[in-house]
Amino acid sequence: MKIKQCRICLVKTGPHNVRNRTELQYHICNVCEDMEDKRRRKELKINVLNHYGGKCVCCGTTTMEFLSMDHINGDGSIDRKLGMADHIWNWIKKNNYPESLQILCFNCNMAKAHNGYCPHEMYYHLRRRRSGSGGPTN
Ligand SMILES: [Zn+2]
Ligand SMILES: [Zn+2]
Ligand SMILES: [Zn+2]
Repeated sequence: MKIKQCRICLVKTGPHNVRNRTELQYHICNVCEDMEDKRRRKELKINVLNHYGGKCVCCGTTTMEFLSMDHINGDGSIDRKLGMADHIWNWIKKNNYPESLQILCFNCNMAKAHNGYCPHEMYYHLRRRRSGSGGPTN
């Protein structure tokens, strides 16, 4: 019997470690497959986030690890179903990037879920009011 190699790290894997995919020659060890999965999910997340502007609409953080999706109208149906689960990114792509979604970071998401608003919003409005008209300054 032929010993298969992982196509990425080239480690020789026994038959029980090799996952035969539909394509011939697609052999990958469990470790590399995990890494590939993580990489694919990350890429997908970046794509989806970029589509929505790439930052939290509330506080503006761009740190990808903090970002999640929120329902603009707050009906919560998708949030409860999908939450911040990994497959939400797949769902968004499959559903053609619904316009009813926006990016919120975990902080803002949690705050909104608990209070119905994010403290940032109040802070933002207060700051705007204090800074005057808000018109363009030359
Ligand atoms: Zn490998
Ligand atoms: Zn935020
Ligand atoms: Zn916020």
